[in-house]
This record gives sequence, C-alpha cells and structure tokens, in this order.
Amino acid sequence: MPRPTIVTERLALRPFTSEDAPAIQNVVAVVKLAVNSRPVVVVSALGGFTNSLLRSVEIAIDGDARSASKSLESEFERHLNIAEQLLNHERRAAFVSAVGDARSKIRQLHKIIAAHPVTSPPLQDEIVAYGEHLSSQLVTAALIEAGVNARHVDARSCIKTDDVYGAATPLPETASAICAEIEPLLIAAKVPVLGGFIGSSARGVTTTLGRGGSDYSAAIVGAALNAREIQIWTDVSGVLTADPRVVPNAQTIPILSYQEAAELAYFGAKVLHPKTIQPAIDKSIPVRVCNSRAPKEGGTLIVAESEAAPQTVKAIAHKNGITTVQVTSARMLGAYGFLRALFGVFDDHRVAVDVVTTSEVSVSLSIDDASGLLELLPDLEKLGTVQVEENRAIISVVGEGLRNTPGIAARVFSVIDDINVTMISVGASSVNLTFMVEEARAAETISRLHRVCFEEQFESRQAASDLTIMA
Ligand code: ASP
Ligand code: MG
Repeated sequence: MPRPTIVTERLALRPFTSEDAPAIQNVVAVVKLAVNSRPVVVVSALGGFTNSLLRSVEIAIDGDARSASKSLESEFERHLNIAEQLLNHERRAAFVSAVGDARSKIRQLHKIIAAHPVTSPPLQDEIVAYGEHLSSQLVTAALIEAGVNARHVDARSCIKTDDVYGAATPLPETASAICAEIEPLLIAAKVPVLGGFIGSSARGVTTTLGRGGSDYSAAIVGAALNAREIQIWTDVSGVLTADPRVVPNAQTIPILSYQEAAELAYFGAKVLHPKTIQPAIDKSIPVRVCNSRAPKEGGTLIVAESEAAPQTVKAIAHKNGITTVQVTSARMLGAYGFLRALFGVFDDHRVAVDVVTTSEVSVSLSIDDASGLLELLPDLEKLGTVQVEENRAIISVVGEGLRNTPGIAARVFSVIDDINVTMISVGASSVNLTFMVEEARAAETISRLHRVCFEEQFESRQAASDLTIMA
C-alpha cells in the first residue's frame, strides 16, 4: 500500500464571521487535492471554540452552571450555521442531532462541576473534547457532501494516553491501535477523518494532549502509519524569514531542518511546538506547513538536517518583553557549586530561564515571564549583586549554516554597530546566534539584519553574482 499523507487542518478562523463555511470548504478542497495520496485528515476545533469551552468550565467551577452552558450558545449556533450552508437535508439532520447531544451532555457536566468543583480535571477534558468531536463530524459530512469517501473515526479509540488531564502523553500501544483502526479504511479507499487533540486513558476516560494538540495528533498518526508527509494547514504562508509585522517583505522559507524549526518555535513562530513534531522527527517524516488560503504555494517543508539546505541563514526571529537578570559575585571565581545554587533559586521559584551567558564573575539570564521575579530576587541577592533590566528583546539569527560558516557574527554585528548588544550566545553545534537588544531598537535591528541576510543576498543573486553573504 502506498504510504499515506496526513493532513491536519487547524480550523483557526476568525471566530463568528461568515468565513466559517468557506473555511470548511477550504479543508474540503485541500483534501480533494490530496485524495490520490491517501490522506488521513486530522482536524482541530473551530477557531476560538476551545477557548470558549475552557472559559465555560471556569464559570461552572465558580458555581454558575447555567451561565456556563449559556456562554456556549453562540458557538453551537455557529456550528449549525455552517451545517445549514454546507450539508444536505439528511446529513444536516444528523449533525444537528450531534450538536443537540453535545449541548445536553455539556450542560450535565457543567452542573456536576458547579456542585463538585474537585471533579473538574477529567470533566474539563470531556467538555473541551467536544470542540474536536463536532468539527471532525462536520468536516466528514462536508467531505461526503463533496463526493469524497470520508469516514469519521473517534480519536479516542486509537490515541491511548496516560491520565494527565489537559496534558496527556500517548502510550506505546497507540501506534498499533492507530494502524488497526485506520489501515483497513485506507485499504478500502476511504478517507479517515479524526479529531486532533483528544485521546482516552486506559480506562476509557477522555483526555486531551495540551493546547495546539491537533498538530501533535497528526504527527502521532503520521508516525504510526509511517506517512509519506505530514501537512499542517494554517492560515499563514508557512514559516517566514521574519515577523511580517516588523519586516513587511518577509518571505516564506522553503525548507528548514527540524532543529531550525524547533529554535523558531520558541520565538512564537506560531507554527509548531517542537514537541508536536517529535513523533515525525523520530521517524524522519517530513512536515509541511501550508496555507489553506493559498493552497498552491509550497509552504515550508521541515526535514532532517541532512536534507535541509545547509548554506544559509533561514530566519531572523525575535521576542519582545524579555527581562534579563545579571548576578555578579566574586565568589564565583574559580569556585564550584555556584551555578547550581543560582539555578536552584530559579528552580525553587519555578521561573523558566531561556538564554544564559557567563563570565568569570557574573552570570546573565533571560526570562520571558517575569511575574515570579519579585519573590525570587531576595534569594538571588544572597548569591551576589543583582541587576535587572526590563523591556529587552531577544534576537536570534537561525540557520544550519551557522554551524560551520566563519565570519557570520562579524557580519551580523557590523550592520548594527550603533546598537547596544548584550548576552551574545552561540553554542558549538548550535544553529542560532542569539543576543539581546533594547526592545525599542528591536524592529530596527531585525530590519537591518533581514536586509543583509535576505534582501541584499536575493538582489545580488538576481544580479547573477555569487556573493554569498552569510552563506
Ligand atoms: N483545539 C485545540 C486548541 O485550541 C487543539 C488545536 O487547535 O490544535 O488548543
Ligand atoms: Mg483550536
């Protein structure tokens, strides 16, 4: 049997607009394009619905089951509207009754939570899973309506997880369960459609894989079936060379290595969480990020390092709102145990550290959530003199080409030689060169770097020159 392609569609649309039905039709078009490569379709909830479901659980925990249920009415209407527009009589009736069931089941669950808030973790997953239950049924029906031989699969029958509600981890038996459930459908030339993000524990209780988990589900399914490719369809044109709000002429990156993609994910390239594609990495399955509004563009292909073009810088990533902390202490000089004590403070206060640089007598760290900092500082001050700087930005030049290209740092810093740069970090086998600037100067830094890394390079290539800036 040819290897299947896994298509995951994030139905991430602007909520509550008339765009909902056309977006489902986009999914249908994407699946139809892929139909000869045996697609398996993994869908997420309609954009915004997961958030609404989670909010409804909070309202129930506060004791108001009635408002909790009421808060979801417009979301159910939204689903019904799409069905109205896309489905014929019979299929519409079936979907209307699925929405009715979801509504009454969720209402019961809200009541239980309001009366016994301690029961909320498993019940929350049960409720939130309705986002994907409904969207996957809706997409299945719309595909059948369009002449595709689609078949709905309840993801809970094959994604088997531990029972860490809200952040469940798949168990090893998941792979064989997926094959048992899905392969017969593929052999019968059916297009399986399942909800992403959801699974069930050994006892059959509904679980969820964590926010954004649909992509993770797709990678799990793709790995189990040894798929040819995993496609993630979003509403952006793949991964870009920089944030388009800062650099209007940012371009789509055609090909990235897994590690480059992982580095970019930290900077909120909202595309992928590294954990999400781990199952694909383990089996060297390429992951393609595509734009459902421009399905003919190739998007970004993410592959093993050896297949990614090694020669260039791929992106200029950045993140604002960073706080840096510098701890200086003569006690550090030639002593051991200091760093452990220092990181112990961050551990104790559960504050995540991102970039770290050290000199003989000082350590600088960056943190992107400074909310715990006030409580942490007194402990840190026991170790040395502490200096905190807010409103910094991390800038990172990412590319496999950095591993073995001399002179990159010089080129980078020469275009920003009037900007104050701190905490420069580049690891031995690292694919990124990272540093901090003042947030107010971030946009300027990024634009200049983008120009020298991409625009000038592009122009010079066009001029048939072989000048290889950063290559
Ligand atoms: N619907 C889930 C969420 O919003 C999963 C996903 O969209 O990937 O987190
Ligand atoms: Mg979602």
